[in-house]
Amino acid sequence: MNNEMASTQSTRPPRPFTQHRLGHSHAHRGVRRPLRVMKFGGTSVGDAACVRKVAEIIHNSFRDNDLLIVVSAMAGVTNKLIEAGTQAAAGKRAAAARIVVELRHQHAAALAELIDSESERERIGSTMNELFQECELWVENTASLGELTPRTKDSISSLGERLSAPLVAAVLCSRGLVSQSLEATDFVVTDSYHGGAEPKMGLTTERCESHLRPLLRRGVIPVVTGFIGATEGGLLTTLGRGGSDYSATILGASLRADEVIIWTDVDGMLTADPRLVSDASTIPEISYREATELAYFGAKVLHPKTLHPMMHNGIPVWIRNTFAPEKVGTKITPTGSANQGGVKALTSIADAALITIAGSIVSKTSNVLDRTLATTKSVHADVLMISQCPSQNHIFLVVAASFARPTVDALYREFASDMFQRSKDHVTVDSGVSILTVVGEDLPAVRGIVGRAIDELSRDRVEILATGQGSSACHVSFVIARKDIKTALATTHREFQPERLKSQRSKSSSSQGDGSKEYRVMSSVQDSHEVEGGERAALLSRFDRSLPAAENESIVLDEGSFRSMIARERKRSERSRKPVLLMLLDAGSCLPHDKNGKVLGSIMAALSPAMRDTDIIGWYKSNSVVGVMFTEIGIDDPGAILGTMMHRVSDTLRNELSLESFSQISISWHVYPEKWDHENSAGNPALYPDLEHLERTRRGALAIKRLIDIVGSTVAILLFAPVFFVVAVLVKLGSKGPVLYKQERLGQFGKPFTFLKFRSMYANNDPKIHREFMKRVISGDHDGEVEGEDKKVYKMTNDPRITPIGRFLRRTSLDELPQFFNVLGGKMSLVGPRPPILYECQEYEIWHRRRVLEVKPGITGLWQVKGRSRVRFDDMVRLDLQYVREWSIWLDLKILVKTPLAVLLGGDAF
Ligand code: ADP
Ligand code: ASP
Ligand code: MG
Repeated sequence: MNNEMASTQSTRPPRPFTQHRLGHSHAHRGVRRPLRVMKFGGTSVGDAACVRKVAEIIHNSFRDNDLLIVVSAMAGVTNKLIEAGTQAAAGKRAAAARIVVELRHQHAAALAELIDSESERERIGSTMNELFQECELWVENTASLGELTPRTKDSISSLGERLSAPLVAAVLCSRGLVSQSLEATDFVVTDSYHGGAEPKMGLTTERCESHLRPLLRRGVIPVVTGFIGATEGGLLTTLGRGGSDYSATILGASLRADEVIIWTDVDGMLTADPRLVSDASTIPEISYREATELAYFGAKVLHPKTLHPMMHNGIPVWIRNTFAPEKVGTKITPTGSANQGGVKALTSIADAALITIAGSIVSKTSNVLDRTLATTKSVHADVLMISQCPSQNHIFLVVAASFARPTVDALYREFASDMFQRSKDHVTVDSGVSILTVVGEDLPAVRGIVGRAIDELSRDRVEILATGQGSSACHVSFVIARKDIKTALATTHREFQPERLKSQRSKSSSSQGDGSKEYRVMSSVQDSHEVEGGERAALLSRFDRSLPAAENESIVLDEGSFRSMIARERKRSERSRKPVLLMLLDAGSCLPHDKNGKVLGSIMAALSPAMRDTDIIGWYKSNSVVGVMFTEIGIDDPGAILGTMMHRVSDTLRNELSLESFSQISISWHVYPEKWDHENSAGNPALYPDLEHLERTRRGALAIKRLIDIVGSTVAILLFAPVFFVVAVLVKLGSKGPVLYKQERLGQFGKPFTFLKFRSMYANNDPKIHREFMKRVISGDHDGEVEGEDKKVYKMTNDPRITPIGRFLRRTSLDELPQFFNVLGGKMSLVGPRPPILYECQEYEIWHRRRVLEVKPGITGLWQVKGRSRVRFDDMVRLDLQYVREWSIWLDLKILVKTPLAVLLGGDAF
């Protein structure tokens, strides 16, 4: 084939484009048919078999639509071309030549397989040969020059599309369609920025009208090279890697198409990159803005600028799968689906760099932020996130790793003279970071979920280096260490799975977006910097270094913020295992409001030398109780800190206040996590002001829950009265001991209560084996008892303490019936987490405790209807916490309805 191509090349005339007319009359001429632009990506034209699929899709679509086809290079070709250029620039001519030969073979093989007609094969072969000769010329020039200039790089990398377009057009013709391949350099007019050119839409539209419209009118299917364009002067440019998507929408907008379809190798836009998250699912409809943010923050399926040409015309863009054309794919529309808010998807950029400009240069230099942005722009580095923190003398910015070097060099150049005067100023870079971004239109819901994602990430020990929120308010990004990206994606994806969304959304709208409080995003970049010509809106993000607000702003938090900060610090402490110390100064009613402010000022002044950056001060109760949180104190420290603080505080107060007022102020100290032991298992209410608030906001719904509990348990007791009787007799006769087994369990807030069951064990047994067993299950050491094939359970299956009748009662769950009396008495609810035994709680990780703190325990719950004893302990706690978060009457009812079935089918109660 090579020889064939070589032998035909000299006889061919110059090739403006190739056109094939097969004498077909266009059946639909005169009727205005919808115009579809269809772009086929690299994998879609990856080999002969793929091109056949493409031809079929085009053939089918042409029945009802006028078509304009945009093609990419065959998969991998652009990379190889660039590699050839790079090798040539390094003087490795032979290596470069080898790559070109490989490419020749690849294209020749596809041609031989696709085109049966010898004359056609020869014609296209000759076109390809010319292009490869051009390629060899560029490679040789590059080798001679010893440099791959951006202009040459564009020319070399454009060859892939210029090779594939004639091939696809020829295949269409061979199926009896009328098709013509065209090079976009003739009508996509761009600026001269090689490697990432911008289209000039006015000129492009004019040229599309003159070059393409007449063909469309005649029923010809133009096959256009994606990815490339040319300046007004005719210099070839490219639109940036993956730019064929952009070509499709540029052409679609210019010709006012009815729709654009991007055909690729996945079913649509997915909730995450399927290569990184195995259970990603297809998004049916998404807004321009969301899709753009996803693409901008790493979703390779779309070039980030793809939707720019659509902003003013609202043309829908579809993403569909060439290899599964029966699937509908994803529709991208101006506003997305009306009934789908919340988190849409997440995405990541694996290779990013966090650049820090630090020192008094930040506060002393004028226009420092403007100059930073201008500098990044001068090296064409997209700023993914940025924030300025004058009080801390920091500017942080995040760019793609490939831009780190040029950006840092340029920043040094820009600020050299300013830095020269101050030795402590510096620019540093951490190029080992990744960005994970969560995208969705409905930011309160997004934030709620993000708040939870942060907790989950922390639990997986993923350190969040920075967080940021898009100025377009539809994405939140995290900067994390590169090694953590896969874990972080999996965790975050699990956290926002679609089925959870609905309940999350309804909860966030009914309870003032509770989650949003947990997650604070600093807004330290002035708004004027955020939107520059619309385009940068998605680019500029703001972020803080994951610090509590007080750290950056040194302010006294209001009651709401301080209380949610306590909740946040508790969670932080769960993962860092470093205690938090909360000091409360209760001025009660003794101080008039205005005086409180003054007193607070003097208390703060006294405290400040002893306070570290991370300590937080705020109103625990507006104008009467001041709180100070000393965070992450050393494990052995609490005592020492406590002593110092008490001294300082009481000295200050004595000096500042009259004796009478002073004596009315009470100071209390609370350490989190509290010790849970025999004397004290309950939570310390002072440390959970947020729960009190939650109860208040849910008061109405909780009253309904109580009503359901009373009615439900009364009905159940009446209904099961005969069963109670029979079981009681059986237990009594079966073995010595009482009918009822009374056990101390922990109720809401860790308060003990007497839990009732029918006795299923021999009396006076030793709980030690159970205690040991639970210790291993809770710590995750126990891998489950094997029961049947591959089934595992996390309950004791062969407990020798169980009586024969007890075994029956446990299997049928009849032993649980007396708990309806616990429900009637108000210590339990029909639905809630199972109440634990104190010795179990003593083995708990701190975060496990939340399952008993936040809601009343119950007879049945998510755990019972979703896996029961087959779920690991940690996962059971996660289910409990999910229940706590998503609680609504509706959820309770659903669980109640599902419970009987779970009991009947279960067979896993032991
Ligand atoms: P084409 O060659 O058709 O242009 P690309 O390789 O450029 O295709 O883009 C499609 C690929 O993008 C998919 O195969 C998938 O692995 C990746 N991808 C990354 N993030 C996403 C996402 N959120 N949804 C769908 N695909 C994604
Ligand atoms: N072929 C080009 C690339 O690989 C453009 C594209 O595929 O969209 O970057
Ligand atoms: Mg692509």
